[in-house]
Amino acid sequence: MSEPKSILIVGAGFSGAVVARHLAEAGHRVTVIDARDHVAGNCHTARDPQTGVMVHRYGPHIFHTDDAGVWDYVNRFATMMPYRHQVKAQVGAQIYALPINLHTINQFFGTALSPEQARAFVATQATGDDVVSFRDQGLRFVGRPLYDAFFDGYTRKQWGVDPARLPASILKRLPLRFTYDDNYFAHRFQGIPREGYTTLVARILDHPGITVHLRCPAEEVEAARFDHLVYTGPLDRYFGHRFGRLRYRTLRFEHERVAAPHQGTAVMNYCDADVPFTRITEHMYFAPWEADRFQRSVITREYSATAGAEDIPYYPVRLLDDKALLSRYIALARQSDRVTFLGRLGTYAYLDMDVAIAQALDMAAHLSECFATGRRPAVFPQTSGAGSAHRVARAAHRADRVFAPLRAERLAQAAHMHIDSARVDIDVAPPYSVQ
Ligand SMILES: Cc1cc2nc3c(=O)[nH]c(=O)nc-3n(C[C@H](O)[C@H](O)[C@H](O)COP(=O)(O)OP(=O)(O)OC[C@H]3O[C@@H](n4cnc5c(N)ncnc54)[C@H](O)[C@@H]3O)c2cc1C
Repeated sequence: MSEPKSILIVGAGFSGAVVARHLAEAGHRVTVIDARDHVAGNCHTARDPQTGVMVHRYGPHIFHTDDAGVWDYVNRFATMMPYRHQVKAQVGAQIYALPINLHTINQFFGTALSPEQARAFVATQATGDDVVSFRDQGLRFVGRPLYDAFFDGYTRKQWGVDPARLPASILKRLPLRFTYDDNYFAHRFQGIPREGYTTLVARILDHPGITVHLRCPAEEVEAARFDHLVYTGPLDRYFGHRFGRLRYRTLRFEHERVAAPHQGTAVMNYCDADVPFTRITEHMYFAPWEADRFQRSVITREYSATAGAEDIPYYPVRLLDDKALLSRYIALARQSDRVTFLGRLGTYAYLDMDVAIAQALDMAAHLSECFATGRRPAVFPQTSGAGSAHRVARAAHRADRVFAPLRAERLAQAAHMHIDSARVDIDVAPPYSVQ
């Protein structure tokens, strides 16, 4: 190997940890810093000291992928326990199954339709030809009764805007299933790490070549002392918000201890606009292998709002104005030397965990090669990352179930986001009404 480099990585989430591990295994000296007091970023889990329940501190995280390489990777560091995600939704005084499936349709309309009858019936509900907005698209796909019940209020709460102002492109597929399949994800590999995500990420970081500093904001470290910086924090923060702030939605979590069991399922969405929260999570159901041992349970109500300067940024908004601002930061970043931006904050994109890991693995391989050959490392993830393109092609090929095309498309978009190029208009749609 060539001379070892000293690398600073900002952010100890999946993106930062995966790159750190790869570079350390290649013989480089890696320093990882994070402003928080724990590793694993937004995937952080911790046992509640009073109940013993493993709590997903920044919202529910379910690992799901079609990428065998990524699945093998996480299984190197954790025992992934079987878990199938099923989501319920409260509309008015009724509880329904999501994604909207044959059971939801028959329950909602008080019918006993077969798949083909339901398809024909829903088609008669569809309204509108001129599709410009998310709302138009929803009405065209599912008709007014289902749209009003399941999409309108939830989307308003989640995104804080009238769905008539969101682009139609967000809702690309008919979000209905004409079967009784209510598994939320259709991926081949799904699970939850037995000891939680924080233990998983801590094990990735557990290498003699890696030093981790917590409660350490990047602004307090002299990056120039290192040969290269991998920055997985917010792109606009790196530049001191010079052109203004990229817009994010933030979340407020209201945790409460209650008698177990409380709601009988992991996630219950609240679709009505007059209920202030979007969903309630009951964490013990993410660990079905231990759920029946708890006398007390932990639930979390989730409220969505526009992120202010002091809030944690969760979902990038990525509407037209935001993308124009993003282009300016990208142009600025491309003039930078010895820095690579990565991860959901560094690229201002919604990334599922598997996509973040795939992108980090590809970037780490690219950096290793650049350090060995003296080539200039990329500033952003590359389209040409053979690993990503290959993985995405495989994932798209395997995505043969009803909801999978939507996921595969997002995966493909995320991995093909050639953010280094002028094509910054590619939208990696956040989960507007899905997740
Ligand atoms: C509510 C919610 C639910 C989700 N559910 C799922 C799910 O079910 N399945 C799934 O696959 N994905 C899910 N995701 C996506 C998942 O959280 C991301 O894929 C993952 O967190 C990406 O990891 P990352 O390392 O890129 O970013 P992060 O996890 O955000 O890590 C970035 C880290 O950088 C640190 N940092 C930022 N700026 C600085 C700075 N200036 N100095 C020092 N440190 C800094 C932060 O503290 C943070 O720890 C969900 C996301 C959200 C918001």
